[in-house]
Amino acid sequence: MSGYPFAEIEKKWQKFWERDNTFRAEDFSPKPKYYCLIEFPYPSGDGLHVGHPRSYTALDIIARKRRMEGYNVLYPIGFDAFGLPTENYAIKNKIHPIEVTKRNVVTFRRQLKMLGFSFDWDREVNTSDPAYYKWTQWIFLKFFEKGLTYKANIPINWCLSCKIGLANEEVVDGVCERCGGPVEKRNKEQWMLKITAYAQRLIDDLDSVHFLEKIAKQQINWIGRSEGALIDFAIDGHERHKIRVFTTRPDTLFGATYMVLAPEHDLVDVITTDVQREVVEEYVNRARLKSDMERTESREKTGVFTGAYAVNPATQEKIPVWIADYVLVSYGTGAIMAVPGHDQRDWEFAKAFDLPIKEVISGGDIAKEAYEGDGLLVNSGFLNGKHVPEAIVTMNAWLEEEGLGGAEVEYKLRDWVFSRQRYWGEPIPIISCEKCGFVPVPEEQLPVLLPEVENYEPTDTGESPLAKIDDWVSTDCPVCGGPAKRETDTMPNWAGSSWYFLRYVDSKNDQVLADPEILRYWMPVDLYNGGMEHTTLHLLYSRFWSKFLYDCGVVPTAEPYARRTSHGMILGEGGEKMSKSRGNVVNPDDVVAQYGADIFRCYEMFIGPFDQTASWSTQGIEGIHRFIQRIWRLIVDEDTGALSSKLDENSSDRDILPVLYRTIKVVTEHIDQMRYNTAISQMMILLNELYKKDRVAKGTVKTLVLLLSPFAPHLCEELWERLGGEPSTLSQAWPQYDPELLVDETVTIVVQVNGKVRSRIEVDTDSDDETVKQAALEDSRVQKYTQGKTIAKVVVIKNKLVSIAVR
Ligand SMILES: [Zn+2]
Ligand SMILES: [Zn+2]
Repeated sequence: MSGYPFAEIEKKWQKFWERDNTFRAEDFSPKPKYYCLIEFPYPSGDGLHVGHPRSYTALDIIARKRRMEGYNVLYPIGFDAFGLPTENYAIKNKIHPIEVTKRNVVTFRRQLKMLGFSFDWDREVNTSDPAYYKWTQWIFLKFFEKGLTYKANIPINWCLSCKIGLANEEVVDGVCERCGGPVEKRNKEQWMLKITAYAQRLIDDLDSVHFLEKIAKQQINWIGRSEGALIDFAIDGHERHKIRVFTTRPDTLFGATYMVLAPEHDLVDVITTDVQREVVEEYVNRARLKSDMERTESREKTGVFTGAYAVNPATQEKIPVWIADYVLVSYGTGAIMAVPGHDQRDWEFAKAFDLPIKEVISGGDIAKEAYEGDGLLVNSGFLNGKHVPEAIVTMNAWLEEEGLGGAEVEYKLRDWVFSRQRYWGEPIPIISCEKCGFVPVPEEQLPVLLPEVENYEPTDTGESPLAKIDDWVSTDCPVCGGPAKRETDTMPNWAGSSWYFLRYVDSKNDQVLADPEILRYWMPVDLYNGGMEHTTLHLLYSRFWSKFLYDCGVVPTAEPYARRTSHGMILGEGGEKMSKSRGNVVNPDDVVAQYGADIFRCYEMFIGPFDQTASWSTQGIEGIHRFIQRIWRLIVDEDTGALSSKLDENSSDRDILPVLYRTIKVVTEHIDQMRYNTAISQMMILLNELYKKDRVAKGTVKTLVLLLSPFAPHLCEELWERLGGEPSTLSQAWPQYDPELLVDETVTIVVQVNGKVRSRIEVDTDSDDETVKQAALEDSRVQKYTQGKTIAKVVVIKNKLVSIAVR
């Protein structure tokens, strides 16, 4: 490859940045602060995946632009180093996880530096470093002190091959998320974290931040708030027991004609009659083998009658009690009142088992299907003639008066199972004493270090490998001095990542997790980008920890992230997921060796709209390669290596100003909107215009170099220097334009969906097709007609029309 000597140039500028401390963030600088954050990587043995740099480059571009706009930018990096893959590798290869982690971090560090990210490396953190996890343990003790952690014997998901308990969210499609192996339910004493205590605030405070709408929505759905009522049903012949249900439709109580318990419900054993016992037990055993997903999503209705009857408190009628696996013991109360007239799932169940269906709300035809809408109450005693909303209020009041229950808010969110029976995690800093119970390790004894063990293999008794080290387990009780035992469970890998963004702010502090004044300067994070797959786990967990630490007076903001965005995945060529078994994994090292870091970065930004999935394409990267080569040749004479003779010191390029100004405007705005691909397209347009000219003003070229510098920083530092500029480009002001000269700035474009005009949108005149297409697809009036459909084809006619075909 002839042309620009990227290997030499990239090394040169990486050295310069390091020597110059170009990327250092300064605490308390009088400049406005900007904290941008990417999800720190797990240092796996495979090294960096091409998916990582998509997010890192995107935020690096913003970080670099902000610096040029006069901000004091914090763009930190670290490693989320505890976790199973490292531990499994250590077990297999008989190398200590500490060693494995060290090696992997060296590789990651090299690769991240190779790509020229403007991280402040002085603030690097590693969650498996005792100086770091001391504070993770300290936070756990705070939870303990405030009563937000407790031990519970609950059925957990047990992975038969990893031999650990899994959180519900780690079981995907009924199998272990990590190894794909089978999962069964087992009872185990677990440390729990009471995230449910923050459920309402985790919803409410979303109003105070700017999260991508789909992210906020997913969190709200995951927390799953519902308003309804608790109702107690008496059981015929069992005076000491009651069946408690939670329903969002207490207004339909008169229509409850049967009840259903989860097969695991405590009362199943108590109320089942002798005649029914055998079939019930058989059903319970079968349900145990199914995953929650299989149970709730199966179309086939199964269930058995327990032989027992409950009493509907409104009608005093005896109604049969069934068990069915579509009712989960972990949701609500594990029991439901079935109203087949007005709940479709209950209706289907009643039809399948020939149970009575009763109409209590008029307006539908319950012979055909359940009627779930509003209407007037009928066959409902004191509710007759009322509409649903009023009936709910009346019923709740009646339930309260009768001592049968009343209005209640429930959440789907469960408390967080915070124990793992594995080695490579933070030891939970609790001591258990026969006399004193659970006692926190005194703060001055933190960190509780992970002890050396012979092997890290989990035990199939379900105990952590730490349990085998007697002299570590046995200790003195900090309260009474008597013999006591250390907790041998470790924390889940989500612990360290729940607060790392706080540590970046003051990563070397050994007195507090971070200095309150420095936290006040930097927090909240201004922009946090990460994967959609972290929306309901890491993102929710870290918001929870932040709120808790805020309540403890440790951090200054109740919300850690002011803005949250997300990027699409990068797939292999042809649209398949990259995997070793498919042999389609693209290694960043190879790409950089062939093309250099700048082309790699620009390509990842050009690959498609940032928030959408994109496929790797060799052809696509060649296109960017040509673009970068042309930039180089515009400025540097290939034969002599001197500045191109086309460059003109004095001329002012009047004719190019409109397109130059439009380019400044588009690049400026599109970086802020994370529309990187169209920002690059616009620079391509400018470059084409410049190539049409015999002479080009140096000033114009310098502006282009500055605009491109966040994308291709090494190349642009070099060109900037060759053009007579003082390094670094980061100390230059971001280019400005004269809005007066943006004539005919925008144009109205008609948008058709399947041939019908559905909207009109304003776009910049001569915008490239991709920009116009995106704007059309994002238009809310257009989305009304495209939602839930497949976009078959989009045709753009410049400055006039977008035609969308959907199926
Ligand atoms: Zn597993
Ligand atoms: Zn004691």
